[in-house]
Amino acid sequence: MIKIPQHIIDGIIAQAKAELPNEACGLLTGLGDTVQKQYPLTNVDHSPEHFSFDPREQFQVLKSARAEGQKIIANYHSHPATPARPSEEDKRLAFDPNVSYLIVSLAAEQPVVKAFSLVDGDLIPNEILVV
Ligand SMILES: [Zn+2]
Repeated sequence: MIKIPQHIIDGIIAQAKAELPNEACGLLTGLGDTVQKQYPLTNVDHSPEHFSFDPREQFQVLKSARAEGQKIIANYHSHPATPARPSEEDKRLAFDPNVSYLIVSLAAEQPVVKAFSLVDGDLIPNEILVV
């Protein structure tokens, strides 16, 4: 389970919409299973079907999180036109069993946000508790 404040869910959705038609991405930091801060990152692929974090921005987030006594506990990206399910590429690129993988889908009229965890090489659904 991952606990995410409503305003951060709203922030992820707003970023995903702002970056259409491309995928948006970012990191979430916090403590334990509770997200406290959203860090939007640049999708250096600038693509509607792929994303890659900007490595320098990613490093800055790591530094900020450490300075605040927090950890990166989740990453997120958007699917502009497909459901909130991990693609084959998402599964292939997932490597960290200690973080949650969030996907926000804008395929339907209402945005959908889902979380997944890496278990035995597969991304399986993980419950989101909005706090
Ligand atoms: Zn994806």
